[in-house]
Amino acid sequence: MRDVIIIGGGISSHTAALYTARASLKPLVISGPELDQLSLTTSVENFPGFPDGIQGPDLINNAKKQAQKFGAEYIEGLVDSFEVNENKFIVGVKDKKYEGRTIIICTGASARKLGIPGEDKYFGRGVSTCAVCDAALYGGKDVVVIGGGDSAMEESLALYKFAKKITIVHRKDTFNASKIMQDRVLKLTDKINVMWDTSVTEVLGDGKFVTGVKTKNIKTNEESELKVDGMFLAIGHIPNAKIFEGKIDLDEHGYIITDKLSRTNIEGVYAAGDVQDPIFSQAVTSAGTGCQAAIQAERRIENLKAKGEY
Ligand code: NDP
Repeated sequence: MRDVIIIGGGISSHTAALYTARASLKPLVISGPELDQLSLTTSVENFPGFPDGIQGPDLINNAKKQAQKFGAEYIEGLVDSFEVNENKFIVGVKDKKYEGRTIIICTGASARKLGIPGEDKYFGRGVSTCAVCDAALYGGKDVVVIGGGDSAMEESLALYKFAKKITIVHRKDTFNASKIMQDRVLKLTDKINVMWDTSVTEVLGDGKFVTGVKTKNIKTNEESELKVDGMFLAIGHIPNAKIFEGKIDLDEHGYIITDKLSRTNIEGVYAAGDVQDPIFSQAVTSAGTGCQAAIQAERRIENLKAKGEY
């Protein structure tokens, strides 16, 4: 029986592992095959403490090493079951079961993709899901942003400071973003234009980087090509919380509901990072909630001991 089991392998997970390891709780971290968001990014310039920026994969690897240095144990595996059993939790990976007194869920959220040719090939080389992270790399360049929600508006505003021209490609003739966000974007006509009723059907490239996209008007079926250096996907995220459905409270978009103390509705189960955060989704906020969850788990273990229930 472990004091703490942490599920996931992103920055919230490594931070929770670091804190619980330093508290001598010997955490077990179980992380699946999908890479976390930072490992998919290049230079991270907004994580405090690195004035020259740091490569996303380096930040992640350093954080993991730091947690291991204090005794965190890591295993690879996709968690496929989760059971609540009186005073313990049982986490399954295929036919193996791991028991914990507390659980910290850090399974993240995966950016939704279009599933079109070229999208995976050029991911991280022109295709991005995070303008806040990558906008500065597109100084003086032309880009497309896909989507019509608040994220698409936010991505476009982030890119506005750097890019030469931004084309928002949306599959409908109205945005679903909040009015205030739409208004902010639509008045920036010097750089931003919108292609309504349009889908992107293929990402084009020179073998190394994105050089353009193919588009299709949904109403007229007219196809065209747009020369761009970047394509930003803002078509929503899918929180990786499916296995907790019915056991832990999720919001209407499938995110785990947490309180200010990173607690879920089940005592002893905490959640941190993007799986419980549809708003900020930043490396630093993920690390912050990982820290909170770890401190809460530590307090719970102390309480169990004090009550003689350990
Ligand atoms: P949304 O679900 O609101 O919007 C997703 C957009 O992507 C929609 O316009 C949708 O189009 C489009 N889309 C979805 N799938 C596809 C597809 N396969 N091909 C093309 N287009 C597609 O997601 P967001 O990430 O924008 O927002 C999520 C939540 O987070 C919202 O509640 C939002 O308000 C909130 N948020 C708040 C922010 C803020 O307050 N600053 C910033 C960012 C997000 P369609 O309408 O046709 O389905």
